[in-house]
Amino acid sequence: MTDATLEESVERIERALAAYRRYRRRRRNPQLVTERNDSKDVDRSIEMLMPDTKWATPLHEIDSARDGPTAFVVAGQHGIEPAGWKAAELLVEMTPQSGTLVVVPRADQTAIEAGVYSGDEGSLNDHWRVGSEPTIEIARVIWDRFESYQPDIAFDLHSSQGIYKSGIDDGFGQALYPTPGRARDVAAAVVDTLNEEFVTDWPDHYDYIVGNLQSGWGTFFSHKVGGQYDGDCLLCEPTRRTTEDGRHPTEAQRIRWNLASAVLALDHYEMTFDESI
Ligand SMILES: [Zn+2]
Repeated sequence: MTDATLEESVERIERALAAYRRYRRRRRNPQLVTERNDSKDVDRSIEMLMPDTKWATPLHEIDSARDGPTAFVVAGQHGIEPAGWKAAELLVEMTPQSGTLVVVPRADQTAIEAGVYSGDEGSLNDHWRVGSEPTIEIARVIWDRFESYQPDIAFDLHSSQGIYKSGIDDGFGQALYPTPGRARDVAAAVVDTLNEEFVTDWPDHYDYIVGNLQSGWGTFFSHKVGGQYDGDCLLCEPTRRTTEDGRHPTEAQRIRWNLASAVLALDHYEMTFDESI
């Protein structure tokens, strides 16, 4: 078999698998899946995860109908970080020019509804231990979907009250935390662009940096992706910290930093969008 023929066969198999996965999800929850077709054949569908429970939350799939990467975005693990889920909901409205974008913007509805950091089962981001099943149902369901999509790149969007390694607090903000390997190089490149184009007019210590490696030593979603799936993931943390002279990164500012982090990184995986940010 020539390389070209082999490549075509692999592509055909991948398309068939993707179609089968869509069929399986629709059969699981036929009444809860809605679809809408854009003029460009982009297929948008929604699957309600854990329907009829307080955890019920939508998973959005935006299939460009063109070959390309699969990206999986989780946000809303903490109920006081709207910059995460609102950036994710903006991504849902965007139109990828290739590949498939999967987004779960509001992972912990119990935390978001109550307006608290941790939901009814504690911080959702503490339930993703490497090598075992996630310890609560919503995490198991999200991980099941993650594995069935086999994404090339994943994101977990948050925000933090402080600034990582700034020496002024012990927060985690203004950093992208990558899994080892390619995501680490992508994070470094994205950080440079963020600082040049999106963190202008802020004190120097508001510049983004690359955070510690999400290689599986912790219980975060990003650790599970890096340590168990051996995949690429970026944990994104813009800051909410007020500057010494009283300037506050507004929610809109933090959403923009999160959105830019994801869109700039996706560009490295050959997913570009019709819209500009
Ligand atoms: Zn968080």
